[in-house]
Parts: sequence; C-alpha cells; structure tokens
Amino acid sequence: MSKRIALSSSNISVDLPSEINTTNYNVIADFEGKLEKYLGAKKHVVALNSGTSAIHLALILSGVTEGDEVLCQSFTYVATANPILYQKAKPVFIDSESDTWNICPKHLERAIKDRIANGKKPKAIIIVHLYGMPCKIEEIVAIAKKYQIILIEDAAEALGSMYKEQKCGTFGDFSIFSFNNNKIVSSFGGGVLICNSIEEKEEAIFLATQAKDKSEYYSHSRLGFNYRMGILSAFIGTEELSYLNDYVSARIANHQNYKRLLEVVKGVSLFKENDDFMKSNHWLSCILINFKTLKFTFKELRDQLEKDNIESRPLWKPLHLQPIFKNCAYYGGNVAENLFKKGLCLPSSANLTKIDFKRISNSIQKFL
Ligand SMILES: *Cc1c(COP(=O)(O)O)cnc(C)c1O
Repeated sequence: MSKRIALSSSNISVDLPSEINTTNYNVIADFEGKLEKYLGAKKHVVALNSGTSAIHLALILSGVTEGDEVLCQSFTYVATANPILYQKAKPVFIDSESDTWNICPKHLERAIKDRIANGKKPKAIIIVHLYGMPCKIEEIVAIAKKYQIILIEDAAEALGSMYKEQKCGTFGDFSIFSFNNNKIVSSFGGGVLICNSIEEKEEAIFLATQAKDKSEYYSHSRLGFNYRMGILSAFIGTEELSYLNDYVSARIANHQNYKRLLEVVKGVSLFKENDDFMKSNHWLSCILINFKTLKFTFKELRDQLEKDNIESRPLWKPLHLQPIFKNCAYYGGNVAENLFKKGLCLPSSANLTKIDFKRISNSIQKFL
C-alpha cells in the first residue's frame, strides 16, 4: 500500500531517535507497560504531563465536584492540594505526626468523625509520602475502609519507597507519581496516575485527551483536559526507569553519608525511618535543628552553606498556613509547623561525589 498522506504531520527538523515521531504512540504505552511491570499487583498506569494533572484526574475519577470536602495532609508541596481547588472542592487539612512527618492517623479519624457529625462526609483523602518516607499507610488504609472514603496516594516523591516490602504508590484507590526534573526519576516533566481497573485507566485517558466522544465528528459531552504525556517525555522516562534502583541506592548512600557526618553533632537530627517496616528512597536528606541546644538561627546556617555555594532549602511550609488556603478547616496541633521552623533539606542528588560531601561537611563543621 502507498504511504499514508497525513492531514498535518509535524515538521521536526532536529535529529531524534527513530522511535520518536509524532505518530508512534507505542512509546507512551511502553512507558506505561514498564511501570505496570515494576508496580505489579495488577496496577494500570496512565502517563500524563505532570503529577499535578494526575492528582486532578484522581479527584475527578473519585467523583469530587464543587462543594465536596477532601481531607489532605497539610505538610506537603502545594501541588498536592491545588487540584482540590481546580474542582471547586474544599480542602480540609490534617497535621502530621512526628515519626514519619506524614498525616497523623489520629487527627485524620477525628476529622472524619467531626465532618460527618457536621453533616458532610468527605469525598476523598489525599495522603503523601513526604521526601520519600512512607506514611503510616496500614492505619490509614484501615481508616479509609472503615468510613468508605476514597484514598488517593500522592507518591510523587516516593518512587522506590516501600512499606512492609510493598511499594509506595500501590496502596491507594488511586496513586500518583511525578517524573518532574527534580524527582528521583525524571522524564523532563511528566507524571502518572495509577488505577486499579482498566475501566478507570480508559476513563482517565479519555479525560486527558479532551474527552472526545466516540463519533464521526468532534463531539464533546464532558469537560476534558490536555493532560497526556508527550512522546519525548515517555521515551526519556522509559530509559530512565531502568536506572531507578541505582538512583535509589545513590540517595540512600547520601543519607548514610549524612548520618556519619552528623552523628557526632549534638542538636542536629537526620530524618530517618523510625520503624523496620519503612523503607524510604531518601529522595531528599533533611535535618532538624534544635535551636535551643545550638546557638544559631536557621538563616545563619543557610547563609553559611550559600556562602560556600551549597544549596539548601527549608522544608515545605504547611498548607494550612498558606495565604491561598487561609479559610480552610484544619485538624491538628503544631507538629507540621514546628518541622517547618526547624528543618532544612540538604543536597541530595544521585550524583553527589566524595568531594561534594567533603565540602558540605567542611561547611557545616566550620559553622558549628
Ligand atoms: C512534585 C510533587 C507533585 C507534583 O508533581 P508535578 O509533576 O511537578 O506536577 C505533587 N506532590 C508532591 C508531594 C510533589 O513533591
């Protein structure tokens, strides 16, 4: 047969690997397949353009609409909660617990009971495995089951983390990962939604590609989005997934290096697993500083590192303290707030060298 004449194929003049062209959607299916194989447990993966769009689609598939309430971990990146506002739903924020820095199961259950007593059962719960640390997932799954509320697992930072040898991102009714540049595996921007059924996967793809009805012409009955992953990202993501174990090992090695470095320093504690069931990918190595023991301010330490050309960052500022969420309900105390006040993220790239560590070590020691 003669070559098909396309309506408008793209004219890309740069040299690309032969697998990549605008009509080869197998590249996206390959990426999804590779991740499905990795996750096992009959998971269905939908490749999207970001982790944020994956959370948005999870909320839509959970039936969250205007005025619904969604319970959400407060101590997280803003991307976890923004999609709740996209749906014109209401975030109800929950404090963390100090072991895992993640959502406190006690406050979560108290919030559910209270919202139900107020006459409104929350539609969904969004939990996070922050900095790669698994949350108290068993307790949380039990609570979600008990009250029959959909559980959405934001595992954006936790690819490669495990709880009792089960992979983070396989516990929720829906889960998401991010493949943004700074995450443990990058596809130069991208994310995935993890579903438990093929029907949910098909619905997610339908919504992510402008919700085009089955029809001979362009017909649309539902609101759609342009959320599908690009072919170039899928290609890079597929290749990069092969290195996941190496990247996780490198991040864990960073954590071990910091442990050795900081063991001797009084007043500084490294964020670590507090029980044997938890295996963090240690995406970022974070420390808490006891400013009562140590006579310096948070800013002084950051300035010192900055002077030595070493990047550090404060922990996420809890969302219930953010101006955009100031009118949202909140359940908890000041655990997340205190973590924010006392914590710092240290350099954690997979390619940190011995020399880099020496520099970081010297900078901190000089300061102390
Ligand atoms: C990165 C991140 C997201 C969003 O992922 P994007 O791909 O950047 O949209 C969501 N939640 C958490 C906790 C994240 O760290």
